[in-house]
Parts: sequence; C-alpha cells; structure tokens
Amino acid sequence: MKCPFCGSLDSKVVDSRESDDGSAIRRRRECEVCKKRYTTYEKIESMPVLVIKNDGNRQLFDVSKIKKGLIKACEKRPVSLDQIDSLVGEIEKKVNNSLAQEISSKKIGDMVMEGLKELDEVAYVRFASVHRKFTDINMMREEINKLVDNKTK
Ligand SMILES: [Zn+2]
Repeated sequence: MKCPFCGSLDSKVVDSRESDDGSAIRRRRECEVCKKRYTTYEKIESMPVLVIKNDGNRQLFDVSKIKKGLIKACEKRPVSLDQIDSLVGEIEKKVNNSLAQEISSKKIGDMVMEGLKELDEVAYVRFASVHRKFTDINMMREEINKLVDNKTK
C-alpha cells in the first residue's frame, strides 16, 4: 500500500477492525518512512454499488460512464487521457471507500465537478451545464462568476 503522503511502500498495520456491518476491514497503517498514519479498507470486490438516478431508478455503478462524460466535457481542451483516467480512478476509490451500497448520481456528478474544477475550467462549465441542468444563460453565468471569484480570492 502506497503512503498517500510520501509514496513509500513500507507501512505497518497499527489497528485493524471490522466495519459495523462486517462488510469490510478497516486498517490504520503507519508509514515506516514519514510515520504518518492513514486508513485503508479491505472489502469484498464483488459487492456492487448502485447508483440512484434523478428519476429514482437504480443502476450498477459503472466507471466507464464517468469516463465517457469526462471525455465529452474535455473535448478539444488541454486535458490528457491520463488526467481523465486518474480523476476517474479517484472517484472510483472514493465511491468504494465510502462503503455505501448506494450513491446518488448527483453525488457522483459533484465529485466529477470538484475534480474538473482543478483540471480545466471550460470543461468544468461544460460538465456543470449538463449535470446541473442549466436551463438558461444566467445559471451558466453564475457558475462562471463563482469560478472567477474563487480565482481572485
Ligand atoms: Zn509516508
């Protein structure tokens, strides 16, 4: 397990316990190099995560859908496939580590937006326009203003 702080592969387990519902083992690890502590989860891989869509329907969590949405938002933007893949990986990890069996599509969309904000602002606004269902130009302007505000702070 790679230390999230220094990247070292050497760690020791300092605590290990089952999650409340017994579906996962939570381990506290201490990095042998920088001595910082972090948590890892061990869980059964086949446990499916369901995504609750806006209309209330559920479907299996599928990272390829996130990737498709990202590629679309990043079209003709200076964002590499590597960057997209690592963002998809981060989101997948967050969803799996949450140990929830259901997650709303809105929450996933928010995670995507959070990551995109760092990568490319145009792609972010594009994605936001779909995810937040902008119905008029004012909503889009508001989102852009928020971005600009954050920058000048
Ligand atoms: Zn470390």
